[in-house]
Amino acid sequence: MNELDTSVVHSARRYNYWLGGKDNFAVDRESGDAITKIYPQIIPDVRGNREWMHRGVRHVVADLGITQIVDIGVGIPMEPNVHEVAQRLNPAARVVYVDNDPLVMTHARALMTSTAQGATAYVDADMRDTDRILAAARETLDFTRPVAVLLVAVLHFIEDLAEAQQIVARLAAGLPAGSVVAISHFTRDGIDDPLIEASIDNAAGSAAHGPFAARTVAEVNELLTVGGLTLLEPVVEVNQWRPDEQTKKEQVNVHGGLARKT
Ligand code: SAH
Repeated sequence: MNELDTSVVHSARRYNYWLGGKDNFAVDRESGDAITKIYPQIIPDVRGNREWMHRGVRHVVADLGITQIVDIGVGIPMEPNVHEVAQRLNPAARVVYVDNDPLVMTHARALMTSTAQGATAYVDADMRDTDRILAAARETLDFTRPVAVLLVAVLHFIEDLAEAQQIVARLAAGLPAGSVVAISHFTRDGIDDPLIEASIDNAAGSAAHGPFAARTVAEVNELLTVGGLTLLEPVVEVNQWRPDEQTKKEQVNVHGGLARKT
């Protein structure tokens, strides 16, 4: 993939546009606007997702005491990023960033700098390549202690549910006991018009990352209950998960949850 190709829509740059970021090109904005026209809800959805990730990381570090994180499907950096949220709570936190988009990783390497006490590492890998991800994570993290794996708004790029489950299962199998997996996912239960659903799939899938699959809430549950994982709390709409004063009350079609490896 050519990093400087401005004629192909990148899902990460389009997501950056929806979040109000500046790292996107005309083609990304056009695709983003085409989706917003059919489905204006995408804006609250992506913002709710990003804020869920921030609260999730704070929960992992502050409440669960886990200071080692593997963030798969990083997105274009936009403050605060995962390591910033984690290191504000514990400067020794260590974060391994994984993405298969060279453009995303170039931005990440340039912009995501660790504290001196902690560490950040960058791995160019497809989330399907779980062996490589786990091997790279072991170079930076201590696998005798729990690790949190984030799959935030990324599993919808794996169209086949069984394949997505296998990815989560392989990652979970490689983690130390007490580790957690956090997943957020675009969900279709709240969209009652099949035409809108089809248009979103079609427009979203036109990006460089190929197909896009919104799932049902039941399917998101299935992703978090693969072998060895136990849900910590029910999967809920992201804005309903441990909301704080800033969390918006609006309904969103993104669900999330955390599961623990026992
Ligand atoms: N997790 C971030 C960004 C989500 S955007 C957040 O929620 O804010 C989705 C990211 O997943 C993009 O950066 C995209 O490049 C990455 N991605 C898509 N398919 C992937 C794959 N097969 N393997 C690894 N990363 C992937």
